[in-house]
Amino acid sequence: MLFNSKGGRKVSERALVIERLNKIFTTQNEHIVALRDVDLHVKQGEFMTVIGPSGCGKSTLLKIVAGLDVDYVGKVELNGQPITGPSLEKGFIFQEPRLFPWLTVEKNIAGDQSWKDPKVRENVHALIQLVKLEGFEKAYPKELSGGMAQRVSIARALLRNPAILLLDEPFGALDAFTRSHMQEVLLNIWETNKTTMIFVTHDLDEAVFLGQRVVVMNPRPGHIKAVLPIDLTFPRKRTSLGFQEMRRAVLNEFEKVEEQSYTVGAGI
Ligand code: ADP
Ligand code: MG
Repeated sequence: MLFNSKGGRKVSERALVIERLNKIFTTQNEHIVALRDVDLHVKQGEFMTVIGPSGCGKSTLLKIVAGLDVDYVGKVELNGQPITGPSLEKGFIFQEPRLFPWLTVEKNIAGDQSWKDPKVRENVHALIQLVKLEGFEKAYPKELSGGMAQRVSIARALLRNPAILLLDEPFGALDAFTRSHMQEVLLNIWETNKTTMIFVTHDLDEAVFLGQRVVVMNPRPGHIKAVLPIDLTFPRKRTSLGFQEMRRAVLNEFEKVEEQSYTVGAGI
């Protein structure tokens, strides 16, 4: 075990350990195997992307890591502790920003932390700079674009100094230009804070642009097909040969499945 310089939290080389994770949803008519024998180790400070077609269990996996779903079989540990419920250690970013409409940007970020506390105000303002929202401190959510609102929710999660940030298709609702800008903002946050990230997407380009490793999932039942390291330095160039090769390597993991008559969802 090592000691994290931030806040003295104990961390291990493997921040997240998932072993033989299985999840079954039981409905009136059927049992749905949402996750079968999922094994995944995520290192402290790693940026991991998870890609797969709709229904392959990406959100189910993320919710289990977040502690939002504890009805599973297998081992899921964060920094050596079993995950038994939600906590501020696990930041979660949904596709929709979920801000309080009656609070300003800065107070949305502060949330339940006391605005009277100068340390809280200082931390909030540092995060506003990090997510590039200077000048919008006093704005209300309805005055923000989708990308700006999502940056507020990222700042709100980071204020809690999470051991891991879980992002479930966070840029899925944004147009292509905003999405690409948001990817750069997020990489800058990661390079500054070195927060461990698990970023779920069904966008191939996004998975390769952001991830140090890409987890490829396939459906029926939801399982991990491959974990591919992306050995390209940041910032990455989408037009580079290396990027195109990695893109193809990830896509190949789907094509193999297609040959076995599975379907690959839209966006790939
Ligand atoms: P993804 O996020 O990759 O699109 P999900 O994790 O949402 O996939 O879903 C995985 C599988 O589990 C799908 O077949 C989905 O229909 C099923 N599922 C998800 N949530 C529930 C639920 N609450 N009840 C029953 N089935 C569910
Ligand atoms: Mg999902």
